[in-house]
Parts: sequence; structure tokens; C-alpha cells
Amino acid sequence: MLPGLLTADPTRFVEVAGRRLTHPELLGAAAQVAADLEGKNRVAVLATMTLETVVGVVGALLAGVSVVPVPPDSGTRELEHFLTDAAPDAWLASAGDDTLPLISVDVDARAPFVEKQVGQDDVAFVLYTSGTTGLPKGVLMSRRSVQAGLDGLAAAWDWTGDDTVAHGLPLFHVHGLILGCLGPLRLGGNVVHVAKGTPEAYASAADPEREGGPATMYFAVPTIWSRLVERPELLSQLSNARLLVSGSAALPVPVFDKVREITGLEPVERYGMSETLITVATRADGHPQAGWVGIPIEGVETRLVDENDAPVVHDGESVGNLQVRGATTFDGYLNRPDATAEATTPDGWFRTGDVAVIAPDGRHRIVGRESVDLIKSAGWRIGAGEIESTLLGHPAVAECAVVGEPDADLGQRIVAHVVLREGFTGSDDLATELVALVGSELSAHKRPREVRWATGLPRNEMGKVQKKRLLP
Ligand code: ATP
Ligand code: MG
Repeated sequence: MLPGLLTADPTRFVEVAGRRLTHPELLGAAAQVAADLEGKNRVAVLATMTLETVVGVVGALLAGVSVVPVPPDSGTRELEHFLTDAAPDAWLASAGDDTLPLISVDVDARAPFVEKQVGQDDVAFVLYTSGTTGLPKGVLMSRRSVQAGLDGLAAAWDWTGDDTVAHGLPLFHVHGLILGCLGPLRLGGNVVHVAKGTPEAYASAADPEREGGPATMYFAVPTIWSRLVERPELLSQLSNARLLVSGSAALPVPVFDKVREITGLEPVERYGMSETLITVATRADGHPQAGWVGIPIEGVETRLVDENDAPVVHDGESVGNLQVRGATTFDGYLNRPDATAEATTPDGWFRTGDVAVIAPDGRHRIVGRESVDLIKSAGWRIGAGEIESTLLGHPAVAECAVVGEPDADLGQRIVAHVVLREGFTGSDDLATELVALVGSELSAHKRPREVRWATGLPRNEMGKVQKKRLLP
């Protein structure tokens, strides 16, 4: 069990989709699950947005059984991948949920629960990556790393058991499950999971009349912040929060600016991934800056290197490949020694696959993914993110994704996929205007060679654009 997980305080609670358990009730229910899991090794939890998912995960942690959170809307091929790869010896799924025919706890007998002695190096989770760049990989995450990550964030955000964290994030990734549920529980605080994740749902957590009081911290991905800024009357209700947090993908600068304008609060960005948990975060007492994600949390080191792993200077301008080392880092990919070796340097750094800039004072700016967000055109190395942020600043643009398409002459040519707001239609004139905007705000070589009108962008459940699907 994670030390400090759950207090005996009956005024503290976890709420999911309007249903609540106090901490002692959660502990009781989880202990029952733990007893059911006696003798098991690895349990797959169908991670629906229900209280049962939280009970199942906490129960497994109590029992010392590692947890494989499975996305509930997985298709048959994905499910087959998770099941054959992780090979769980038990399943937990809420009986009320009929999205899958795989229900039923694999229970032999209901034995009384005896807390198991668990080693800190034991695997707490097999976390599947989002699959943005390929087939999802199973990340082996030890209890020690989970604790280090949560401790580091608690220190960075002055986060205590008096905080109530509200979010509507999926319960099968680091963001929603580890940060958004185990984080508050471990500190003895409240969780309000607003399962729908809509602007209305987020605003409902801010209601001062709520039993237990309004939330003090809100976690969301950029797509949710984008939807919230479209509903200023709802977003403004979050103004009394202590911290508004964004992560999982880059928060576009115009969205950051609007959140600040509407709430008077500067959203705090944090950056991380399944393999290293949260790596970098803006501190509660830091000065959030649009486009910057903060400094490494305690126990974590970062560095920039070039293609040959030679150092790139941390001068706030030079772009390099970001590597991470330290207390939160994973223990390798399940069944993928090849991928583990490829992702690790001989001196023990993890290659994040992301490109970043580090300022002399340690602040990080994430440029994007080396594989899709770093465009190499006519000898320039161009980050897709700043072009996207610029385009989003135009009143006609609702969403956009910039990619580099192979080009015989340039190496890669910059192509912008643009979704327009209601009331606007794509035309050659508008395309010219958008291209000119990039030319004037950034520089000539960053102008898209082509603008393509789209009705929507391919996104996963975390709101991340699946750029590979936009490439020829
Ligand atoms: P896969 O590894 O399977 O391709 P994935 O990398 O999307 O999928 P996750 O581990 O869920 O899977 O996501 C981590 C990635 O999300 C990071 O490597 C980074 O690219 C992106 N990310 C997370 N937080 C931020 C942020 N604040 N700003 C920009 N990018 C972010
Ligand atoms: Mg990844």
C-alpha cells in the first residue's frame, strides 16, 4: 500500500460521477477487493469512470497486486493487445457496466484481508502509453516511483490533504488515475471526479454550496481548457481555485491567455509521460508563463542532447532532445526489451522522444515530439507548436495541427490542417491570410506551404492530436 494512502477521516471523500465514499468507506470496500485478490499477481481493471474503478485500484494496491488499467472503450484489437501483452491473472470490472463481456472478479474464496508486505520496488502499475506514436507500450511503474512522483508534485504545488482536486479525466492514464485520484487520496484529501468532463461538469465542482466545499485544484487537458474558455460564464466560476493545472499536451498560448483573462489565474502547466510520471511542473509559487512548463520536480534531472547524445546548451533558445533521469523513472517496458534499450542511454537517461528548450534558470519549454512536431524544412528545424499557437490566435481558427510532409526539394514542407469556427468558410483568401499571419508573427520560413480545411482533427481520449494519421 502507498504510505499515507487514505486517512480514517470520515469527512474526507472520493466522489465519482456524483457518487461518494468517505475515506473509511473506501478503505473498507478496497480491503474487500484486496481479500478477493489474495494470491493474484496482476489484475486488469476495466477503468470506467466509476467509484468501482477507484475501489478496485486501491484494493489491488493494498493487496500488493499490480494493476493494469484498461481503457473501457477499447476495441477488440486493442483489448487483445492489452490482454495478451499484460497477461493478467484476474479482472476487475464494475458489474453495472456492460460495455464489455469480460465482467467478473476472478475470486476463489473470500478470505479475511491481511495487509501484504509489499516491496517498494514491486510493480504498482503496468501503464499503457497513449499510443500516439505507435502501439501502446506497457510501462512498468514501481511503488517507489509513484510515491516519488506524487511527493515531488505535492512539494511543487504546496498540495495538502486540505485540497480538493476536481477533474474529469480518464482513469487509465497517469494524469487522471495517479495524479488525479491517488495524488489527493495519498495526502488525505478529497477527489471530485466530474465524469463527463464538460465545462458544466467542471463548474459544478466550484459550487460553494457543495458538501465538503468547492474544489481548490482543477486538472484538465488542453482540449478541456479550450472548451472552458468558450464558456466564460462557467470558467469564471473556477476563479476561487488555488491552482488550475494543464497537462498531457501543449496548452496553446491563446488558451492560456484567455484562462487568465477570464479567471484572473494563470494556469500552471506540467509535463510528463507514462514512463517518467510528472517530470517538470510550474511551482505554485512560480510564475506561470504561456508556453513554458516549469522546472524539474524534486528527485528528477533533465538534459538536452543532440542526435549523438552530445550536450545542447540550456540557454533558453537552443532546441534539443529531452532526456530524463531520476526517482520517478520507469523500470522498462513489459515484454519489450528492445524498446527499453532503445529508449535508455548507456548512462541511464530516458529518451523522452520530445524536443525542448531549457532556460538557464531551469525552466522548460516543450517544442513537441521529435517524430512529428519537429519539422525539418529547407535546413531549418521548426517546432509545429508555435505555428499552431499563432494560427489559433486568428479569430477564424477553432483547431489546427501543423505537420511536415515529405518534400523532394525542402525535405519536409509545412502543411496546416485547420478547422474553422462556425460562420467561417475556407477560401484561398483566408488561407493566404493565415499564411501571412505566421510570416508576420514568426518568420518567413515558418509559413505553411499549404492550408487544408478539415472538419475535425483525429484525437485520442486525452485530446492529443494523432498527427501520424494526418501524414500521407
Ligand atoms: P506513445 O508513447 O504510445 O506514443 P504518448 O507519448 O502520447 O504515446 P503518454 O505517455 O500518455 O503517451 O504521453 C506523454 C507525452 O505527452 C509526452 O511525451 C509529451 O509529448 C506529451 N505531453 C505531456 N504533457 C505535455 C505538456 N505539458 N506539453 C506538451 N506535451 C506534453
Ligand atoms: Mg510516449
